[in-house]
Amino acid sequence: MASRATIIAGNWKMNHGPKAARAFFAEFATLHRPRDDRRILFFPSAISIAAALEATAGRADLEIGIQNIHWQLSGAFTGETSAGMAAGAGVRVALAGHSERRHLFAETDEQVGWKATAAVGAGMDVIICVGETLDERKAGQLDAVLGRQVSAALATLPPESADRMAFAYEPVWAIGTGVNATPDDAATAHAIVRELLASHLGRATADACPILYGGSVNAGNAEDLLAADHVDGVLVGGASLKPASFAAIAGVRTG
Ligand code: PEP
Repeated sequence: MASRATIIAGNWKMNHGPKAARAFFAEFATLHRPRDDRRILFFPSAISIAAALEATAGRADLEIGIQNIHWQLSGAFTGETSAGMAAGAGVRVALAGHSERRHLFAETDEQVGWKATAAVGAGMDVIICVGETLDERKAGQLDAVLGRQVSAALATLPPESADRMAFAYEPVWAIGTGVNATPDDAATAHAIVRELLASHLGRATADACPILYGGSVNAGNAEDLLAADHVDGVLVGGASLKPASFAAIAGVRTG
């Protein structure tokens, strides 16, 4: 993405229908005032995107994303949404490769790359999620897993679109478990991702690419995680569902 300004992103997963989304933003807007040192992104369920866009229409600082897209432009893909449709509706950013998509819906590394390519092709930014399972971590496979996921994610992405991309390091064992990676663990993994990006795309592109941490982030640990080396933002699941807890994370001190 264009800069490494802090990104605070909330992934609502399959929570908050349109009515709840409207109620969330009515409250959140009173708790969080616009500030130019960070991007605040929301990933509602697809059915709530229109309501979220409408509810944030007067707040350019609150950006709406989509949790998942298909890589094809259109066609017989029941239940799917194309990148072009999302961009046309006003969505600015897509997630690709969230671990729940990889593990519950059997998305492959290759498909994650196609999705990232489709997102940037439609003019959106993309946050590509990577991360190891606990078994992979215990087996000493962190570097290998990140290496495989990052190179597949970049395989079809046009290099000139690299400024539309961010990564999120989300260790699978930390997602929704209440056990976050330590700031040191996050810094180590983020440094690996940044070196992988440098080897694929060059040092300048790697240094400009935001890398978010995700996995049991809350108002109590966000500041320490954001202070870790190479951590340019956070991707928050459970703690993004309540306006007060997400506003506390969105307002956290950085730098
Ligand atoms: C996520 O959904 O990306 C996530 C990190 O969830 P949680 O914050 O609940 O662990």
